[in-house]
Amino acid sequence: ASAKAYKDAALSKRLADRSYRPALDSDPTFVGDVERISGTTAHLCYQCGTCTGSCPSAPRSSYRIRNFMRRTNLGLKEVSLNDPDLWLCTTCYTCSDRCPRDLIPTDVIMAMRNMAAAQGILPKNMLGTVNFIYQTGHGVPNSDGNRAARVKLGLEPEPETTSKYPEYLPAIRKILEAYGTKQLADKVLAEG
Ligand code: SF4
Ligand code: SF4
Repeated sequence: ASAKAYKDAALSKRLADRSYRPALDSDPTFVGDVERISGTTAHLCYQCGTCTGSCPSAPRSSYRIRNFMRRTNLGLKEVSLNDPDLWLCTTCYTCSDRCPRDLIPTDVIMAMRNMAAAQGILPKNMLGTVNFIYQTGHGVPNSDGNRAARVKLGLEPEPETTSKYPEYLPAIRKILEAYGTKQLADKVLAEG
């Protein structure tokens, strides 16, 4: 078929020269895997950008949830799983509340994080958090400041978690060890 003609002859020439090819690292199984793990039909994303426009991380970083949705559908697995921005989602679910396609972009990110972690791709600060969870059952352990604030609000100083029931900590440790997460944290953090 002949290339479409535009009023601007130079533009027509440039566009006619264009060659559209799939990205070299495109993996056609990626979108299916992400959908299976996340339970959301990511391929229905029509790139409106409402998610990025609602995202509290977007104005503070280079993280763009819409970009990850696009990459999912282009099969850009390697670039997605190795992008440090993958770890900048706060899991606030605002994008998921607002998506006009009723998608859950947050869970797309969580699926990619699981896939990355299964390959041992985890940023060091996340591995530091693994150690906090191993030691206390929490990514952000309770503190004297928090305890005082809770008491002021009429709450018990410890929440109904391992803070109050440390006898459940061995089970949490067992999970982290069974998936090799603790061992990975120890290995990578020891490397400095
Ligand atoms: Fe896609 Fe929904 Fe984000 Fe729009 S809000 S770009 S449809 S994920
Ligand atoms: Fe942004 Fe993540 Fe919140 Fe969605 S859940 S708005 S991607 S920080």
